[in-house]
Amino acid sequence: MIIFKEPASLATFLNEKRRLQKSLGFVPTMGALHAGHLLLINESRAGNDLVVASIFVNPTQFNDAKDFQKYPKTIEKDVYALEKAGCDGLLLPDVEGMYPDGTGNGQVYDLGSLETKLEGFYRPGHFQGVCRVVHRLLDIVQPDRIYLGQKDFQQCMVIKRLISIIGSEAKVVVCPTLRDADGLAMSSRNMRLNPDQRLTATGIYEALDEVRQNQHTKQVQELEASAVSSLTARGFRVDYVKIVDASNLEPVAQISSGKKMVALAAAYLDDIRLIDNIFLN
Ligand code: AMP
Repeated sequence: MIIFKEPASLATFLNEKRRLQKSLGFVPTMGALHAGHLLLINESRAGNDLVVASIFVNPTQFNDAKDFQKYPKTIEKDVYALEKAGCDGLLLPDVEGMYPDGTGNGQVYDLGSLETKLEGFYRPGHFQGVCRVVHRLLDIVQPDRIYLGQKDFQQCMVIKRLISIIGSEAKVVVCPTLRDADGLAMSSRNMRLNPDQRLTATGIYEALDEVRQNQHTKQVQELEASAVSSLTARGFRVDYVKIVDASNLEPVAQISSGKKMVALAAAYLDDIRLIDNIFLN
């Protein structure tokens, strides 16, 4: 695996490969890699001649400075894991390399209601920051396919929208959420949980699973409210539990088999914010 610190060097390397008609899969990450990230690498490995990953903790997408400072970093382990997984190239840029004109002002992306719903509402500016960094990464890498995790359900929708705004040719491949044995969705932020919090954290998955199991016997509002109370009772500070139309994140009045629906949750344990989602019907 070749490690590129300079975006321009990676772009030159990839131009050469493109001339050889190699297809290219791209996996953007913020590092502190776990098996969920490696699933994306494996999918990309299976579907392309070349795989490039990036590790960049993007300052412009953190609406909470403490969350940014405390974001886990395990770079040596990450490099080893990527190499072992058969990744061909890793972009490991610094902030100046990614934002040569500074992180201040940038393009504003029209994300419509994606920006005001759920994660957009609770993390103002977050998706603009995601778009800024992914736009830059897509310009550098110009992949045939970009691999994303369903764990960040709304982010997948935002990046699809970004791709249509900027006219990128990249196809989005969404991979399922990888979970620990007790159901907790794997996440870099899980590394920050103490042993008690780690036990409690599985409550997010359990609450969502309960929604799924009771979807045919209870009303939407009742399902959401009982998930919120079960999380609160376990010590979570809940941002939301919502059942929405999976195609546009619009609230639904009732569960119907005609529409694909998804239950999404975001909640804190201490200052650690966890998110998860589960498809219904
Ligand atoms: P992050 O490093 O958190 O920015 O995540 C990088 C990519 O990995 C994103 O597309 C995430 O959705 C995806 N991802 C994170 N956690 C998981 C997981 N548990 N299973 C599958 N994909 C994941």
